[in-house]
Amino acid sequence: MGSIVLDKVQKKFGETEVIPPLDLEINDGEFVVFVGPSGCGKSTLLRMIAGLEDLTSGAVAIDGADVTETSPAKRGLSMVFQSYALYPHMTVRKNIAFPMRMAGIDQATQDAKIDAAAKSLNLTDYLDRKPGQLSGGQRQRVAIGRAIVREPSAFLFDEPLSNLDAALRVGMRLEIMELHKKLNTTMIYVTHDQVEAMTMADKIVVLQAGVIEQVGSPLELYHRPRNKFVAGFIGSPK
Ligand code: ADP
Ligand code: MG
Repeated sequence: MGSIVLDKVQKKFGETEVIPPLDLEINDGEFVVFVGPSGCGKSTLLRMIAGLEDLTSGAVAIDGADVTETSPAKRGLSMVFQSYALYPHMTVRKNIAFPMRMAGIDQATQDAKIDAAAKSLNLTDYLDRKPGQLSGGQRQRVAIGRAIVREPSAFLFDEPLSNLDAALRVGMRLEIMELHKKLNTTMIYVTHDQVEAMTMADKIVVLQAGVIEQVGSPLELYHRPRNKFVAGFIGSPK
């Protein structure tokens, strides 16, 4: 599960059309990167999928069901932001448990899921610490852990690594890719970083001013950029 279909989704803020009607299909299990310059509408599009922004027009379907009017909590998606949004007064364990507690999941199941998530994210030794006692990378792993335990049908990442220093970013990229391989769950990953897009994606969606310039694999975009913008943006020779 985890296919997402956008049907002529449009977003206006007041009179300003930030996303002209666009279509996009994301297949179950795909790692899709939305890439484009700052302000091109990546976050807005992601938030529309998550249900955090109303559509001006159009429809969103997840696994074949229209969710356009469905609340964010009921869409079965987990979002990871660039700001970690952890609860500073709670331990790592409690932070990860939070969405399960809200959902009324029993303690034994919570503990099993926390242990599994902590193991895949190398957080086992940090479960009793508070966010203030963690590095930036570890905090971001906790945020991902909290997303994992909800067992979403898709993960939505909005520039999750942009607060980390360059060396740490490389490692975290690999960790997220490994997680994708392990969980086999759809991931949509927003970034303005071309390298991130080219190294992580199964499918890249290149956006400019709310318009999809091209959709394709990293190799397709590299060898057959559709226009100068795509060529220039991903740095291919055209
Ligand atoms: P990106 O994530 O690619 O940097 P955004 O989706 O954040 O871009 O923003 C796209 C455009 O929409 C920008 O011009 C931004 O100023 C505008 N925008 C985003 N959110 C709002 C809002 N709540 N109200 C008005 N304009 C907004
Ligand atoms: Mg953004």
